[in-house]
Amino acid sequence: MKIITVIGARPQFIKAAVVSRAFREIDRDITEQIVHTGQHFDANMSDIFFKELEIPEPTHHLGIGGGTHGSNTGKMIEAVEVVLMKEKPDCLLVYGDTDSTLAGALAAVKLHIPVAHVEAGLRSFNRRMPEEINRILTDHASTLLFAPTQTAVTNLQTEGITDSRVHLVGDVMLDAAMHYEPMALKKSRVLETLGLSTKKFVLATIHRAENADDAGRMKIILESFANFELPVVMPMHPRTKSRLAEFGIDLPRNVRAVAPVGYFDMIVLELNARIVATDSGGVQKEAFYYQTPCVTLREETEWTELVEAEWNFLAPPLSVDHIRLGLEKAMGAKGSPIQPYGDGYAAQRIADVLESVVVS
Ligand code: UDP
Repeated sequence: MKIITVIGARPQFIKAAVVSRAFREIDRDITEQIVHTGQHFDANMSDIFFKELEIPEPTHHLGIGGGTHGSNTGKMIEAVEVVLMKEKPDCLLVYGDTDSTLAGALAAVKLHIPVAHVEAGLRSFNRRMPEEINRILTDHASTLLFAPTQTAVTNLQTEGITDSRVHLVGDVMLDAAMHYEPMALKKSRVLETLGLSTKKFVLATIHRAENADDAGRMKIILESFANFELPVVMPMHPRTKSRLAEFGIDLPRNVRAVAPVGYFDMIVLELNARIVATDSGGVQKEAFYYQTPCVTLREETEWTELVEAEWNFLAPPLSVDHIRLGLEKAMGAKGSPIQPYGDGYAAQRIADVLESVVVS
């Protein structure tokens, strides 16, 4: 069977790496073509992941990025439609919640091509997030919904998606975390390069629009890091970098901004940080996979299991005190032992379902 995968943003490259590897297992009858929308295009937001994770070269580069949500999504729908009409795949595969996800799903569903959505059913219940709109619409356009957690399955049921289209497979990011950890430990020199000691730093990533685009929230986050007892290392997302420059906000002395790092370096940073402070979805889970307490700089999270088990502490950037309290709680934290994200074989399950359900 022939699958077209549409990806475009950093977390999608990481998720697609493990699923694409499962497609290439020897006894499978799956041919995959990758379409890169161009949503993330910098070398350190895109190319490095293809190289490190050995993702097959995209067969189509759409080169669409840098615009507004509406403009990007519209252009992507048009360009993906051209690819789909030419390639006539049996199925279109999308990941997560970006504009590339929604554009791929809309282009395919109108051509009556089955849509498969990996990471279906996640909800923040915050409709001001562009990602929430993308997820909801993609789920409702999908023929196959691969849910990472029971919570996600329940969310879909609540929206009336209750049938055999929904498959609880586990989290493909756990597959990636398990598969790539040994390679990362062997290859990454990031601790030496940045002069960091194990468990003596905070790893911070910030890129959600609700934080990065809001000068007040960014000031609160950075002020709460200033004078914290540990130095903070912050791989800086391009969006956050340009917003801080626009706002004229300087980093406190103990916050060290570095360029976005590759996945192997990121794994080693997550493993060795004392605390992770983030507004990323993926980084929250990776912190847990590597047993590092996490502070989530948002009002809510899609990965509620980690908050309940006290691996993750929500600290909305509403005041410096909110965040300092979160950081202090996380310092000594050890959450309870839970395993809500599967067993590291989500990608194989996805490939199995696609082979058995989608008729080529
Ligand atoms: N990541 C990375 N380098 C960085 C920051 C993040 O490799 O400098 C990885 C991280 O390990 C995780 C993914 O990117 O696997 C998360 O992506 P992001 O935070 O951009 O998106 P989200 O998960 O919030 O959708």
